[in-house]
Amino acid sequence: MRTTLLEIIKRAFVFSLLLIVVRGPALAQNPGQNIAPVITVDHGPNAPAQQKKPYVVLISLDGFRYDYAQRYGATNLQALAARGASAPQGMIPSYPSVTFPNHLSIVTGLYPEHHGIVANSFYDPVRKQRYTIADNDGSWFRGIPLWVLAERQGMRAACFFWFGSEAEIDGGRPSYYLKFDEKIPDNKRIDQIVAWLQLPEDRRPHFITLYFGSVDHFGHEFGPESPQTAEAVRHVDESIGRLAKELTKLPLAIDLFVVSDHGMATVEGDWINLDRYADLSDFETSGSLLYPKREDAAEKAYQQLKGASDKFMVYRRSAFPPELHYDRNPRAGDPIVVAAGPYAIRAHAPRNSSDEKPPPKGNHGYDPRGMMAMRASFYAAGPDIRPGVTVAPFENVNIYPLIAKILGLRNGPVDGDLKVLESILNVRAGN
Ligand SMILES: [Zn+2]
Repeated sequence: MRTTLLEIIKRAFVFSLLLIVVRGPALAQNPGQNIAPVITVDHGPNAPAQQKKPYVVLISLDGFRYDYAQRYGATNLQALAARGASAPQGMIPSYPSVTFPNHLSIVTGLYPEHHGIVANSFYDPVRKQRYTIADNDGSWFRGIPLWVLAERQGMRAACFFWFGSEAEIDGGRPSYYLKFDEKIPDNKRIDQIVAWLQLPEDRRPHFITLYFGSVDHFGHEFGPESPQTAEAVRHVDESIGRLAKELTKLPLAIDLFVVSDHGMATVEGDWINLDRYADLSDFETSGSLLYPKREDAAEKAYQQLKGASDKFMVYRRSAFPPELHYDRNPRAGDPIVVAAGPYAIRAHAPRNSSDEKPPPKGNHGYDPRGMMAMRASFYAAGPDIRPGVTVAPFENVNIYPLIAKILGLRNGPVDGDLKVLESILNVRAGN
């Protein structure tokens, strides 16, 4: 019995080896096949005019602070800066400097108050509903993401993760996308990008997004100055290096953008509960966002919070600093509390004290005007980008018109302006 079982295992093993041998060449002959669980939406072939266009790969490194590459020796990103464009003093995130709003600002060219995702989670006092990412409900979004802009004009697009890529936005979706699964290894993500770029040209995506979340994760858990975060930076830098190398082997004009959504600061002190200073019983709340049930409750809470602590400022929404572009959307709440430093602020402690956790070691979301640590990263290199050019800090909404320009896509008015980054383009761009 034993030997038979062993024999079966042996045969299975030999057979699987044979399968590897047989499948190896098959993979090479069949480039562009799905390496990860890709969802395909049939939008037809690339329009003939689009097939001649360049390719843009846009990578987001969540929470990759503007100075991480220099500080932690990310040599591949530094090499990208040398052969392309970079922002040594960082890219300025939209307020609040958190993940979902900023990913959407980068791909729509709109400030959060205009694309509608004003925080990672929030309440809508008009819909009387809470937003949750799990719904993937496109009715929460405004604006036209780059992948929808491309698809509308007959250009195929692919998303290996990006906030919003799993929702139907303005009636559109990318030709290729995946359900978010952080367990998919980095190498598989890169292999899929390369496979997409090896598809026959009628099906090959010209605009591709890719997302890596590990640097943000370690930044929260151990803080931005920790060896764990440094290690995560070097790891993701190796992946960037591998992808950049693979891209140069392809006979295509590919511009590679590596950006981040925001930076990371070391949190100081314990939780600050706003309900210690103000009566919030007539409010819906989400994190530190406050939604009054009545106008007099909003004004009363504003008066109670004003000057109550040197750890935060408070504004009525109508008087919010205009340069933060955060006063137009009722989803931002009223009044609006802004941390004065890297503090952990929330409306209430958890109802159940067993849910209480200390604040994270690192955090973001703060006002980027006065806090360098909130600044994000920006690198771009490829045939359309001038080599070795550096740009002064700029707002992330300006990436959208630049990528649209490179891909020769017409876009309507957005908050971003092509003039801000146009100088990094080679003259060849523009179609
Ligand atoms: Zn984060």
